[in-house]
Amino acid sequence: MPEKVIIIGSGPAAHTAAIYTGRAKLNPLVFEGMMAAGVAAGGQLTTTTEVENYPGFPEGISGPELMEKMRAQSIKCGARIKTQTVTQVDLKKQPFQVKVDFEIVETESLIIATGATAKRMNIPGEEKLWQKGISACAVCDGALPIFRNKVLVVVGGGDSAVEEATFLTKYASKVYVLVRRDVLRASKVMQERIFANKKIEVLWMTIPIESIGDKKLEGVKVKNSEKNKEYVLEANGLFYAIGHLPNTAFLNNQLELDETGYIKTKPGTTKTNITGVFACGDVQDKVYRQAVTAAGTGCMAALEAEHFLANQSF
Ligand code: FAD
Ligand code: NDP
Repeated sequence: MPEKVIIIGSGPAAHTAAIYTGRAKLNPLVFEGMMAAGVAAGGQLTTTTEVENYPGFPEGISGPELMEKMRAQSIKCGARIKTQTVTQVDLKKQPFQVKVDFEIVETESLIIATGATAKRMNIPGEEKLWQKGISACAVCDGALPIFRNKVLVVVGGGDSAVEEATFLTKYASKVYVLVRRDVLRASKVMQERIFANKKIEVLWMTIPIESIGDKKLEGVKVKNSEKNKEYVLEANGLFYAIGHLPNTAFLNNQLELDETGYIKTKPGTTKTNITGVFACGDVQDKVYRQAVTAAGTGCMAALEAEHFLANQSF
């Protein structure tokens, strides 16, 4: 017998979908991944310290603890969780096939919640100072006390970099934006925003090459490729905004993706171009990218899968 619903992923979207489909008595099977896309089961929040903007935790909660709680709630609601990575799917006919290790599992509906991975630069010192001044999410971490009234550095020239730099000016004394070319990729309207902000200075043709500090970030060594000059910016924050990679390679182009690899969903729903396959969380969202929005779309996917199953005869 095929499964009623399989959920692939382990972040807030996957666990919210598991909680809802579990309570709907669909006996969900979750493949949470084993260091899938280089991230531990639990998803992106396992790579951070304090989460201060997830409702229900007025004192804040550590990212790994929040994900442990979500996982425990999924199990309590009836989800079965396997710590395995899905390597392939076959969506050509019903029931769908999901391949894990050497096993193929069939399912009537599929919820994809495999998230996205923030790109990092892996410069010297980054591993040691990750989350000690270096981050890939300004909206998540920017308000932390270590960044208040400090000089901060954002890397990137796209809409995210502009948005994050502008956001950081609420807390920082100054924000440098390092752009590797002599133009921004960001939309014109976003560009106007960055140039109008007196706290922001754009350093063109410049990239970070080393992060400096022992217990916390104290400076960023940068290189200007035009002048072939290296120097140190004294700064206490380094934020990467150089894009994300949606975790969709295992789909092998069987679902409609946008030009950057995100799954396309019908506006206002989590429905993909294949009936019975739903996508939620960051794997289909390159704008909001927050735990609470991922959880919200996880709920939508579960309700839509439940509705789909109720109207099918297999
Ligand atoms: P993700 O959290 O991206 O998790 C998906 C997981 O699924 C993957 O990590 C992997 O473990 C698993 N997976 C992937 N492929 C497969 C596969 N083929 N088979 C099985 N499993 C697979 N948001 C906030 O709201 N507040 C914050 O404070 C905050 N802080 C952040 C700090 C950092 C450093 C980062 C990087 C992000 C932060 N975010 C924060 C953003 C938030 O983490 C994401 O928006 C959210 O986790 C997205 O959830 P998701 O369910 O889409 O999937
Ligand atoms: P983008 O891929 O658009 O931009 C990434 C930026 O990082 C580019 O400027 C790129 O430089 C730079 N970059 C990439 N790798 C490196 C590197 N190794 N070293 C230095 N710089 C690097 O990603 P975004 O996250 O900005 O945006 C993704 C999508 O989301 C876009 O479609 C964007 O429009 C959308 N978005 C929209 C928002 C909004 O409308 N409010 C907000 C945020 C995102 P280069 O230009 O040279 O390639």
